[in-house]
Amino acid sequence: MPLSPDQQAEIDAQRAQSQPTLRATSKGIEAQLYRAHPVLDHGFVRVIDYMGDDAAITQAARVSYGRGTKSVQNDEGLIRYLMRHWHSTPFEMCELKLHVKLPVFVARQWIRHRTANVNEYSARYSVLDREFYIPAPEHLAAQSSINNQGRGATLEGDEAARVLETLKADSDRAYDHYEQMMGQEGQQGLARELARMNLPANVYTQWYWKVDLHNLFHFLRLRADPHAQYEIRVYAETICDLVRDWVPLAYAAFEEYRLGAAQLSATGVQVVRRMLAGEEVTQETSGLTKREWAELMGVIG
Ligand SMILES: Cc1cc2nc3c(=O)[nH]c(=O)nc-3n(C[C@H](O)[C@H](O)[C@H](O)COP(=O)(O)OP(=O)(O)OC[C@H]3O[C@@H](n4cnc5c(N)ncnc54)[C@H](O)[C@@H]3O)c2cc1C
Repeated sequence: MPLSPDQQAEIDAQRAQSQPTLRATSKGIEAQLYRAHPVLDHGFVRVIDYMGDDAAITQAARVSYGRGTKSVQNDEGLIRYLMRHWHSTPFEMCELKLHVKLPVFVARQWIRHRTANVNEYSARYSVLDREFYIPAPEHLAAQSSINNQGRGATLEGDEAARVLETLKADSDRAYDHYEQMMGQEGQQGLARELARMNLPANVYTQWYWKVDLHNLFHFLRLRADPHAQYEIRVYAETICDLVRDWVPLAYAAFEEYRLGAAQLSATGVQVVRRMLAGEEVTQETSGLTKREWAELMGVIG
């Protein structure tokens, strides 16, 4: 359970208040505001605030005086055109602010996306909770033998039990020492900013993360991809669902032209053209490396 009863009560109280506004609102994301969506064993994603909706994208594209909406069909066509032709700045007019709780090793991957605003929970100021990511048994995978940056089959039996035991014991021991170093009654105690250094990378941290829709799509394109590590992918997938609720037309265009799309190299395009012309092309005659060939075959089946 990622939230304490007090935290849940704060969220409920916030959701019980509403104010009239002249600003653009999105019904789908209003229904999600402040709610915590669980991710992994102790993590969550929740929407704290947002700016804009689908109409804000077309409004900016048309530099309109009013809402800029012509008709849903018209807006949909324009949004799809903008996405297809990489006319990205109208998407930057929408923003999303999230509260995310995530393991530190996931945060390290996430923070590489520099085009966002971040404020992280201070472990200098506050004591971190005893919360560590321990993978579910079905996600305890072996190192992949074909991909240095991936996982292979799931660990089983004694080996899986031993790994889980080690992860739990190490996390607990590190946290015990963290607490001890900060001092018991009557001791001076090590500063929180130093005591935290022995905590492992599976400890949970939290941050507020604010990003515009263009850069959010870039993040989701990379992190909701099947090649992304499972532990960050599940966060990206949760955010995908929220973005679908928030800006359904833009999300559909993103799914069509980014998430479900594929990019071909110049040689790859030539190979497809040669195949369509009836030529039997092999990896050896394609001009592609073995890996590029496998990737192309993965795209065109
Ligand atoms: C599957 C996968 C594996 C990865 N493996 C590794 C790894 O082994 N080691 C590693 O270090 N990283 C790794 N990364 C991180 C990756 O290299 C990028 O840092 C990360 O995906 C963020 O992408 P970005 O820079 O495009 O995003 P953002 O930082 O959000 O930037 C968005 C865009 O803004 C522009 N931009 C932002 N800042 C600058 C800048 N300073 N200069 C120029 N243009 C800028 C660029 O066009 C950029 O694409 C991996 C990422 C993925 C998805």
